[in-house]
Amino acid sequence: MVAAVLQVRELRADYGPVRALAAVSVDVPQGAVTAVLGGNGAGKSTLLRAISGTMRFHGGAVTAGSITFGEQRLTGRTPAQIVAAGVVQVPEGRQVFARMTVADNLRAGLLGAAGGRGAAQKSLARVHELFPVLADRAHQRAGLLSGGEQQMLAMGRALMARPKLLLLDEPSLGLAPMMAARIADTIREINAQGTSVLLVEQNAALALRLASTACVLETGTVAVAGDAAELAASDEVRRRYLGVA
Ligand code: ATP
Repeated sequence: MVAAVLQVRELRADYGPVRALAAVSVDVPQGAVTAVLGGNGAGKSTLLRAISGTMRFHGGAVTAGSITFGEQRLTGRTPAQIVAAGVVQVPEGRQVFARMTVADNLRAGLLGAAGGRGAAQKSLARVHELFPVLADRAHQRAGLLSGGEQQMLAMGRALMARPKLLLLDEPSLGLAPMMAARIADTIREINAQGTSVLLVEQNAALALRLASTACVLETGTVAVAGDAAELAASDEVRRRYLGVA
């Protein structure tokens, strides 16, 4: 059993009167890809927001439970402190700065990251190697990129901070199958370079191919969790989440 780099325990999160998560416990193993599956409104984005400390930007809050990253407790920390600890989120819908250039979007990813200029240049070189299009388009406005390229930019921006754990919210959403497959390859590559990944996906088939462990959220609780290959083989998961009759 691989040690968990992130431990979520009995987590509860609310948006005012709306309970989005109730007693959610998840382990994210060190060095692996972990998938979080579930239908609309199941609480997947909320889980990522709780981890990245961004609940209050959405009018919500973590109201019970704990999140621990290595030895550090993340619950109660600011988003900047969580980035500095090595946990960086790529939000749903990319959220690139459309009027800024690609290069400036990437530079924005350095805010709050540790390390000096040398480290920043190394990060940029790594991002350009993973996504050559971001070097080609460095001086274009981000808003002119295609959806897939914007997803690459959002991932590149997150990688500038050299995360130990990357949180990805629906990276394949709205992308053509070929582009989704390219993004999947890149997630595999990022993981192979040593970054743990927590991946939220509606596309369960894609997520289960990438992940070694997975959990399924249903109305704010964990319905099933375990080995991704076993989940992919389970009749119930196939019927309910993979659309197999
Ligand atoms: P989706 O794939 O549709 O984004 P999800 O699994 O990510 O779904 P969440 O977005 O985490 O689900 O939503 C969980 C619950 O919290 C839902 O009932 C949703 O309506 C509610 N919720 C989410 N964001 C907010 C918000 N900003 N204000 C109020 N309620 C919210």
